[in-house]
Amino acid sequence: MTSHFKGFRTIVFTCMLGFALLLNACAGNASHETADRTATSSSQDGTAAVNNDDSQGSSVARARQEDDTRDVEFAVDPARTSWNFEAPATKTVYLTFDDGPSENTQPVLDILDRYGIKATFFVTGMHPDYYPMIATCYKAGHTIGMHTYSHDYSDVYASVDAYWADLNKIAGVVRDQIGYVPCFIRFPGGSSNTVSANYTLGIMSELSQEVVAEGYQYFDWDASCGDGAEHTADELVDATIADTSYGYQSIVFLMHDGTDKESTVEALPRIIEYFRSEGYEFAPIDRTTRVPHHGIGN
Ligand SMILES: [Zn+2]
Repeated sequence: MTSHFKGFRTIVFTCMLGFALLLNACAGNASHETADRTATSSSQDGTAAVNNDDSQGSSVARARQEDDTRDVEFAVDPARTSWNFEAPATKTVYLTFDDGPSENTQPVLDILDRYGIKATFFVTGMHPDYYPMIATCYKAGHTIGMHTYSHDYSDVYASVDAYWADLNKIAGVVRDQIGYVPCFIRFPGGSSNTVSANYTLGIMSELSQEVVAEGYQYFDWDASCGDGAEHTADELVDATIADTSYGYQSIVFLMHDGTDKESTVEALPRIIEYFRSEGYEFAPIDRTTRVPHHGIGN
């Protein structure tokens, strides 16, 4: 009984703390917004609000191909909060790779290139040596999304403010590489994760609304090859087939190009060929992609 009572007191305290943090977060929103708007406007018109990060970003933007409008289209913009939740007309699979860039990113890129496929990379800041791979992926026509800087649940989900501080950190890394802050994000563990409850009760309910209000969109996934855990390439192919046997019209498909994901690289050609044999086209995520949302679990 005593321990239950303590548990209850902890919950009450956590709720009060959560409410205090929420007030704090509301007060802090203006600063997130200002920072994001600065990033957006500077990437679009190349003039205003110069800071140290921006000079590099502008040079990247200037170097872009004339017909590549992704810096305008994909930049986070609090004024753009309309998203698509309808399936596309043709069967489409969106391959997404989380937790890179790492030593496995270039092998993944080589395979995608061989098949002429564009995909999406939800990047982290875990391996600074590989940051230039973000620009390499982007220039090859792949979409860049943000997955958090540290990918450390206890840090990222310590509070609403901690999440935003982390997101702004990876935003800086990505802007240095591609010239702007993209609107596409993925929460570690997805929006349905309950691990975050160990750190902040209700944080996914808060964040899932806040990020959209700030002009971002979070992409969970419809199916996975199961490479979040350690598996052989054969097992990953089997898991892919098992997890996509429902005949979805569109599939946002979760994979990983982080450290130790060599079996994903090994399985990738067979996974691509499987989707092809099922009549799917491949596309990178953009603002017209059907947004997959899991149910919020915390
Ligand atoms: Zn991840």
